[in-house]
Amino acid sequence: MAGKVVFIDHPLVQHKLTLMRRKETSTASFRRLMSEIGSLLGYEATRDLPLEVEAIETPLAPMMAPLLAGKKLCFVSILRAGNGLLDGMLELVPSARVGHIGLYRDPGTLMPIEYYLKLPQDITERRVIVVDPMLATGNSAVGAVHRLKDHGVTTIKVVCLLASPEGIANFHEQHPDIDLYTAAIDQKLDEHGYIIPGLGDAGDRLFGTK
Ligand code: URA
Repeated sequence: MAGKVVFIDHPLVQHKLTLMRRKETSTASFRRLMSEIGSLLGYEATRDLPLEVEAIETPLAPMMAPLLAGKKLCFVSILRAGNGLLDGMLELVPSARVGHIGLYRDPGTLMPIEYYLKLPQDITERRVIVVDPMLATGNSAVGAVHRLKDHGVTTIKVVCLLASPEGIANFHEQHPDIDLYTAAIDQKLDEHGYIIPGLGDAGDRLFGTK
C-alpha cells in the first residue's frame, strides 16, 4: 500500500503551532509548545497500535480489558530539533526506547551528512516512529529512513510538525511505503531550504542558539 500523508488538524495542535510560528515567541515558550505538540502528534501517530484483551480483576468484578499488543515502540529523533518533539512523545510513552540520528545539512547541497547514530539493539523488534519537526527538503527524513531500513527495521512512521510540498514529494518518491504525519503543509521552500512561511530554524528557536 502506498504511504499516506496524515494531516493532524486537531484544534489544539493548530493553535499551538500558530503560537510557535510567531516570531516574538520566546525560547522557553517555543520549547514548551514543541513538547506539548509532541504529545499530541504522538497520540495521533499511535492511534492504530494493536490491542489484545487480558483477563483482569477490578476491585468489583473480573473483566476482559484491552492492553497494547505486539511490537513495542522506539522513537528515533533526528538531531537536534527532533529532541523537542521527542520530549512530549516520551511523556506519552515513557517506556519507549529512543534512538538518535545526527544529521546536518550541507549548506551548499542541502544533503544530509550523518555525524551520529545510536539505536537500541532490539530496534528490529520494534515499531519505529521517526521524529523531526521540519520536513523541508525531506532529505534528512529520507536519509534516516534509509538508515533504519538498512538496519532491518520494517515498521516505520515519520512524524513532523511542518512539511513542504517538495519535501513530501521527495520523501514519498524514495519511501512510497512509509506514512507521514504532519500538522501543516506550508507553501514552499526558499532557496536556502527553509519552509515558507514556516517558523524559522526549529533547532535555533528550541535551543536559543541564534
Ligand atoms: N529546518 C528548520 O529548522 N526550518 C526550516 O524551515 C527548514 C529546515
